[in-house]
Order: sequence, then structure tokens, then C-alpha cells
Amino acid sequence: MSKRDYYEILEVSKNVTEVELKKAYRKKALKYHPDKNPGDKEAEEKFKEAAEAYEVLSDPQKRARYDQFGHAGVGGAAGGGFSGGGMNMEDIFSHFGDIFGSAFGGGGFGGFSSRPQQVQGSNLRIRLSLTLKEIINGVEKTVKVKRFKLAPGATSKTCTTCKGSGQTRRVMNTPFGQMQTQTVCGTCNGTGKIADHIPPGANNMGLIKVEEEVSIKIPAGVREGVQLQVRGKGNDAPFGGIPGDLIVVIEEIEDENLKREGDNLHYELYITVPEAILGIKKEVPTVAGKVKITIEAGTQSGKILRLKGKGLPQMQGYGHGDLFIHVNVWTPNPNKLTKIQKDFFEEMMNDEHFTPKPTKNDKTFFEKIKDMFS
Ligand SMILES: [Zn+2]
Repeated sequence: MSKRDYYEILEVSKNVTEVELKKAYRKKALKYHPDKNPGDKEAEEKFKEAAEAYEVLSDPQKRARYDQFGHAGVGGAAGGGFSGGGMNMEDIFSHFGDIFGSAFGGGGFGGFSSRPQQVQGSNLRIRLSLTLKEIINGVEKTVKVKRFKLAPGATSKTCTTCKGSGQTRRVMNTPFGQMQTQTVCGTCNGTGKIADHIPPGANNMGLIKVEEEVSIKIPAGVREGVQLQVRGKGNDAPFGGIPGDLIVVIEEIEDENLKREGDNLHYELYITVPEAILGIKKEVPTVAGKVKITIEAGTQSGKILRLKGKGLPQMQGYGHGDLFIHVNVWTPNPNKLTKIQKDFFEEMMNDEHFTPKPTKNDKTFFEKIKDMFS
């Protein structure tokens, strides 16, 4: 069966506004509403079709994709869970319940979702400090987490208010006749279960606080502020719900030698006046251990050497940043110089070879920085 055009389904023009779109969908949804068309398969299909059309067109990104690529642009994974056979009734009511709000009194509808809700436990959040080395290589860490767990021996029974359905129903009069509405049961919060036996120390939902060790695998290349999610290691939900997640917020411990700037690292190297004049090999720290670099004879203070690929791995896993070595020539303390040394420099004071003669190659700091990122 070929799919109908979404705009056609809702009988709106291609440049329909958000407000008009909502109005058009509401009209269709009310017309084909299953409560008004009991047992009518065709109405049900039309109802679903309208919901699917609205689901796509009411989302600016999906609408743009649909406008460009048609149904292919919003199908499959990109369609957001409604692909293959369109939406089911529960999806429709949970997504668009507000659409019917004023006419149907909110909440769900009779006859569709009578399953109790899956209640999820709350998430926990911890901060985890990592060294540069751990960030670069990835690391496995064990942390202690205080979380609510279902206490051993805690038992539940079926909620007496809703008899386990998680919902309470009532019948109300609307312009379309009598409608049954459902709301979440206030006694069990929609779980359909309430506590039966509560062991000592547990709260009224049967939960008890315990300290647990959680092992966390940190992938290489994380950054300050990145949040990792450890599924199911948050607080337990009462009686058979889904446990919440543990959210791990990464913090960086500043390295004493290497300063990080995005994926790049910077290192301040200090050399002596004779080393600058005569050249030398120097060891510098990198994230993968020390490496030897050559300082050429006649190196100017402020020179920046670039070690390609010696920075941090990029977050997405492609390539590495660079390590920049900033060369600083260290001026000795004149009070500590010997007489011979002092005399030597005294003599060089007016020596023409010691007179600065910057050429075009001796770029200013800002020009060097500019070069680096061009
Ligand atoms: Zn209940």
C-alpha cells in the first residue's frame, strides 16, 4: 500500500502554520476517534494515519526532511519509533493527549491503555575527577554510590484502588456523548502495586539506602563536563519498575606540565642562553611519555614547535590534537654570575652579533598563533 501525502491526510497546504496544523489534526482526530467509531477499522486506520502525519509535520526537523525527501526521509529509524505499521494507539495518546485536552478532559482514553505504567527510579549524579593521562587512555574506575534499593523482604500487593491497572476511570459527558476518561491512580502512582510488607529500615515504598561499588568504564578522549550514563545504577523504582541511571560527570585534574586547549596541548620549555645559541636536544613530556626534541642552534625565545598528533584523541575518535612546545630562553640571575661570566657579557654589550635584528622570519607571537591555526 502506498502511503498518502501527510499534507493531504490532514487537508492542509504545504505552508500551513503550526497553529493551523494543530487545528487540522484535532479535527481529524476527533472525527475518527475510536470512542466515536467503535469497531470501525477504517476509522481507526484514518485516526492512526492522521496521528502519524501530525507527528512528522509538527516537528520542524522531520517536516523539513519530509518536504525534501518525502516518506523516505522520515521512515525507519529517523521516523522516531513510529515506523513500520504506523503508530499504535498508546503512542498516539501518550504523545498527543493534550490535543484532545479540552474536549476529553485530558488523560488517556477508555479501552486502550489499561496496562500499569512502568515507573522509573530517579537518576543519581556523581562527579569523577580524571587526570590527563586517564582522559587520554581511558580508564576503568570503581566508585562508591549510595543508592536506594528494594529492601530484601519487601513485598507488594495489587493496588486496591485501581485493582492493578494503574489507572482510575470515570465517565463524563462531552459534546460527543458519554466518554470514559482515565487518569493515573493516585494511590499507587500508576504502578498498580502498593507495599505489602515493609522490612525495618526501608521507606514506605520498600526502598532502603545502600552503599554500592559501581565499576565505570571511561572511554578515551572524554572531556570536562561530559556526562556518562551507567544504566540501572541509579535509584531502584518501587516494586518492579525500572531502576534509574547513574550519571557520571567528568572533571579534569589540571596537569602540572601540559595545559589543554581543546584537543591540543601546550608545554612551556625553558632553555639557557648557551643552549639557545649553540642548540641542544631536550626531553619534553607528552601524554605518551617523554620524547626528545632538537633545539636548533640560534633558536629565538618565543619559538613554538609543533609535535603533530601528540595532543589528545578527538572525542569522536578521529585523529589527535597536537602538542605545542613554547621555547623560552631563561635569563640567569645576574647576582649569581661569576666575575668571568659578568665580564664576558659586559664585553658583549655593544657587540654587533648580540644586537637584535629581527627579520621577516622572526614572527611576532600573534603571527605564530595565526599560522598555527591556519
Ligand atoms: Zn492503583
